[in-house]
Parts: sequence; structure tokens; C-alpha cells
Amino acid sequence: MQEKARLLREIEEEFRATAGYTGRRRLSPMVREALAAVPRQEFVPPELREEAYGNVPLPIGHGQTISQPYIVALMTDLLDPAPAHRVLEVGTGCGYQAAVLAELVAQVYSVEVVPDLGEAAAARLRRLGYDNVSVRLGDGGQGWPEAAPFDGILVTAAADAIPEALVAQLAAGGRMVIPVDGPDAGQDLLLVTKGDDGAVRSEPVLPVAFVPLVRPRASTD
Ligand code: SAH
Repeated sequence: MQEKARLLREIEEEFRATAGYTGRRRLSPMVREALAAVPRQEFVPPELREEAYGNVPLPIGHGQTISQPYIVALMTDLLDPAPAHRVLEVGTGCGYQAAVLAELVAQVYSVEVVPDLGEAAAARLRRLGYDNVSVRLGDGGQGWPEAAPFDGILVTAAADAIPEALVAQLAAGGRMVIPVDGPDAGQDLLLVTKGDDGAVRSEPVLPVAFVPLVRPRASTD
């Protein structure tokens, strides 16, 4: 499909243009293949199908968006996914990022706080044959303790700080990619790594703009 090829070229150009920030000059061939394999038009509302291959975020209802393809590509690339990996995604939304991950790793666990979105995404992923994605409704800030530890954790909504529960559920040698509110205005995409000795390091990769990570009130409030 011509539109998809153009989108992939645009993503590759943006990788080169942002390499000064991200340190990643090239989109890895595996991630490129995964992006090429996922039918993005299936993840946007029917009236926006024509725009599915633009390098822009699009509204998916409930005030939420499907992330910009370049950002999906970058976050996926930063995780250094490998076929045996088990990955946690926080913020399923329409399920597009989960599908891209599902092309690359053994098992994807994705948590969504808006029930309508999570249910629709789970049904869509099933229909498209992504049987290695499990979707759960709830607060992704708590992670998915029963399925931990994860080789990778990808958070697609901006937190005010790196959630402790997610750090705890990251495997030694694992990587987490998460947008976090910056010291002033704006957000930074952070790459958080846990060394084989358990030491946690975090480095800012790129200024970004995500919807906020909702913190559902605990039932005891
Ligand atoms: N991953 C999506 C982007 C989703 S936008 C994609 O592939 O395009 C961010 C999503 O995070 C929204 O659907 C929002 O409802 C969800 N979200 C926000 N706070 C959350 C929380 N605490 N737990 C789980 N999901 C959350």
C-alpha cells in the first residue's frame, strides 16, 4: 500500500531528524516490519480511515487518541524488543501499540482504565488474530503483578512520576519507556533501565505531549 510506504518513509526521516535527542538514527528493521504488518486503518474510527496513514495522532473517543505513528515507532524501538520478551503496556487505547508489540514479542499484557476502550480494543485485537495480547481493565499504574516481571514496560499516558509499582515489576536487564511531567511545563519521554544488579537508571529521550495517566481513586477514599 502506497500510503503505508510513505508513512514508513516519514517515520524514518523523523528518526534521522530527532537522532540528536534520541540517539537513534535508524528505525530498526524489525520494528519497521512490525509497523508495516499492522493494519492501522482498523484501529481508527471508521470516519477517519482515510487519515489512518498520516503521521499524526487521531481522536478515538472518550477524549483519548491513537498515538502518532512516529512516537509508536520510537517507543517500540527504545524497548529493544526480542521474540522471547513479555511486555506490559499501560494505556491500551484502541490497541494499535499493543498490536505492534505483538508482532515483535511473545506476549503482551495491556491495561486500560476506560472500560469501553479496553473492551473494544480486546475485541478488535481478537478479530485481527492477535492472540498473544491480554487486555485488562483497571489502573495500569499498578501494573499487572501476577504477570510480572516484564522484559519491557511501555506507558502511553503521562505520569507525574515514574510509578513505583512499575519499577518493581521490571525484570533485571529490562527497559521501560514512559512519558513523565517535566520540571517546568511539558513532558519528557524517559528511558528507564534496570541493570542486572537491580540498579535503576533513567534518562530523558525527547520532549513529548501525551494525555495524562489517570490515577483512579482507591476504593478506600
Ligand atoms: N496505546 C494507545 C494510545 C492510548 S492513549 C495507542 O496505541 O494508540 C492513552 C490511553 O491511556 C488512553 O486510552 C487512556 O484511557 C489510558 N489511560 C490513562 N490513564 C490510565 C491508567 N491509569 N491505567 C490504564 N490506562 C490509562
